[in-house]
Amino acid sequence: MGYPNYSSGTLAQNEFTITEHHLKLLKNMQVEWNQLDKGAPQINPYSPYGASQLSTSMAKILGLDAMCPCPNCAEIHNAEVIDRLSKFHREMEHVLQICISLQTFEAGIYVETPLPNLTRRIWAKKDVVR
Ligand SMILES: [Zn+2]
Repeated sequence: MGYPNYSSGTLAQNEFTITEHHLKLLKNMQVEWNQLDKGAPQINPYSPYGASQLSTSMAKILGLDAMCPCPNCAEIHNAEVIDRLSKFHREMEHVLQICISLQTFEAGIYVETPLPNLTRRIWAKKDVVR
């Protein structure tokens, strides 16, 4: 059983790869309303993918729950697994930007167009995942 394929290494080249793992997580994100200031939709920052511990809920969604859950509490305590999953979780910012702005939910390689004086990132699809 493998880990999800991480893609943050390509961000330096303004490229980001969306995998099927990212799309599974996206499908399970807990969208809600944040009433601060003018109000806006947000992903629940306390439980982005459901009620349990972040890495445990991610592992369950990704089908990795048999990997190493604690026999006592069913949560994941392995520091390496937690670290890798939290980095994977961090990538969801780009997944959300790409899927919403391009109105597409497809695995593939996306490239960011660097435009000056823009506060948001502009993405375009470059290629399918090989
Ligand atoms: Zn435990």
